[in-house]
Amino acid sequence: MKTSRPIRARISPAAILHNYRQAKRRAPGAKAWAVIKANAYGHGQWRAVEALRGEADGFAMLETENAVALREAGITQPIVLLEGIFSARDARAVVEHGLTTVIHCPEQLELLLATAPADAPLSICLKLNTGMNRLGFTERTLPAARARLASLARTDVMLMTHFAEADGERGVDWQLARFNELAGDWSGKRCLANSAAILRHPQTHADWVRPGIMLYGSSPFAETTAAELDLQPAMTLSSALIGVQDIAAGERVGYGGTFTAPRAMRIGVVACGYADGYPRHASSGTPIMVMGKRTTTVGRVSMDMLACDITDIPEAGIGAPVTLWGRGIAGEVTADEVAAAAGTISYELFCALAARVPLEIGDI
Ligand SMILES: *Cc1c(COP(=O)(O)O)cnc(C)c1O
Repeated sequence: MKTSRPIRARISPAAILHNYRQAKRRAPGAKAWAVIKANAYGHGQWRAVEALRGEADGFAMLETENAVALREAGITQPIVLLEGIFSARDARAVVEHGLTTVIHCPEQLELLLATAPADAPLSICLKLNTGMNRLGFTERTLPAARARLASLARTDVMLMTHFAEADGERGVDWQLARFNELAGDWSGKRCLANSAAILRHPQTHADWVRPGIMLYGSSPFAETTAAELDLQPAMTLSSALIGVQDIAAGERVGYGGTFTAPRAMRIGVVACGYADGYPRHASSGTPIMVMGKRTTTVGRVSMDMLACDITDIPEAGIGAPVTLWGRGIAGEVTADEVAAAAGTISYELFCALAARVPLEIGDI
């Protein structure tokens, strides 16, 4: 899709591949599901699949129809449905297309077993609730599920769980202990780690890992940058200046007049607003790159535009290139930095990228 507005998001397949290899390098004994849910965190499901098709051990996603589309596109690796099945139709698709499905509650297990032919080979990730308290079997519900599955000859079962604080102070060991307690004498495969656990908690690597955000070049940690983790930004959101205003000290900028110029200033107006997915909560002072120089936003983000301080970038006029996040011709500013300024995480920025922003492919 070509659009007349200068905003674009450029996706780098080489960066996604590099980041996948980083996950494999950090968890050397494990296979890795490349997590491509939410349209590959806004990067475009097919772009991520193409980047990794020759290399990923498997893909992880949510919707059965998307998983089937991968099969129809010739993807032969394992594909896991992270929330499992939602209907009998999903259960049939799982059997027909050889998908792996999470099973996280007794109802889901019954739905699958009621729908699948008795002799159908099934591949199941049985999810345990080890303290996240979102999805998963517990002490109370697990024994019956395991007994039910043990009676099925052609069923391949892996135990999985999800960490709530792999990036935080509490870490993972308390959840690992609960996992081991629930798993008991389990000798089959295990799948535990998200990006944060892959990077910080090697004791969680087990048989399979599930890297998501790190594939897209962001850090799962507030205090460690993606560069420090040798991750490459996979998305560059760029645009250009479409307006310039010279304003006197005391003038205000934007809706609500939340920014008052402390001195005479030059203000650049960028074709990027919250309707493009730029966070409205990013306040004055959010980093932004204009013509290779780092500056900051000023005033509120509007629907289609935002303003920045170009007082010290006199060479920047209408048409000057701007990098909102990522690594572009106007310079580099990480999505993590922008997210921090907006009180959120880069996951949300990527996923909120609006459909009106054209996605282009290209290495950075
Ligand atoms: C999204 C998701 C992941 C990936 O998490 P990141 O923090 O992005 O690495 C892993 N496992 C499950 C179950 C998920 O839903």
